[in-house]
Amino acid sequence: RPLIAFADVSKVYPSRDRAAEVVALSDVNLDVPEGAIVGVIGKSGAGKSTLIRMVNGLERPSGGRVVVDGTDVTALYERGLRQARRSIGMIFQHFNLLSSRTAFDNIALPLEIAGLDRAAIAKRVEPLLAMVGLSDKRDRYPAELSGGQKQRVGIARALATKPRVLLSDEATSALDPETTDQILALLKTINAELKLTILFITHEMMVVKKLADRVAVLEGGRIVEQGTTYEIFAHP
Ligand code: ADP
Ligand code: ADP
Repeated sequence: RPLIAFADVSKVYPSRDRAAEVVALSDVNLDVPEGAIVGVIGKSGAGKSTLIRMVNGLERPSGGRVVVDGTDVTALYERGLRQARRSIGMIFQHFNLLSSRTAFDNIALPLEIAGLDRAAIAKRVEPLLAMVGLSDKRDRYPAELSGGQKQRVGIARALATKPRVLLSDEATSALDPETTDQILALLKTINAELKLTILFITHEMMVVKKLADRVAVLEGGRIVEQGTTYEIFAHP
């Protein structure tokens, strides 16, 4: 079975003025196989953020279901949602690091919330810093790091709780092309070595071509095309 399954998902953002309602997603069906890297591409306003935020319950569908690892996350609230989110890491366009915390302490944050003691936290954070190539920056604050380094911290933080899924919301959109390539290579390595399933959204064709195994094209809230990256890009 797929690790993530969207089944007949729709989303309407209500408005007091019914004519001003926004249909952000319509009849979305999408499977993310375990171990795959699936990219969703679309223009601004296509519904990408709405779609990816449903996986960790930041957004709820108006209709349909989102099943993650056998659990219907749309049926979860509070405690159940908190528990489900531990197996779902997320990275962001603007990194979302805490400026008052060092690289080490940003990565440690989800582990502190999970209640691990200092020794257990250090034992987990040190190898994560090494994996993203930032062992020598462990005591640096975000303001002292480049964009690429900040995203490496974001990736390490997302992996801290050993999630089964990594969600990426335009993770390279704020980076220059060379740094983008380095981050995409790191994500590919993580997918291969940790067998971590990745679902990402982007508006950039090149990111999909370089990173995704499978692609879904979103237009006006509908998936208009999906398949392997080869299928989607090889036809005339
Ligand atoms: P994308 O990520 O592809 O830019 P979004 O999912 O952010 O697309 O938005 C899809 C549509 O839903 C857009 O028309 C957007 O304006 C609308 N939308 C997104 N969030 C809200 C919200 N909280 N309230 C009302 N409309 C929203
Ligand atoms: P989240 O912030 O986790 O996305 P929201 O608080 O925005 O959740 O709630 C989304 C929808 O779910 C709303 O319609 C809200 O009324 C409903 N909801 C939230 N928490 C509960 C709950 N504990 N029991 C029932 N419905 C809830």
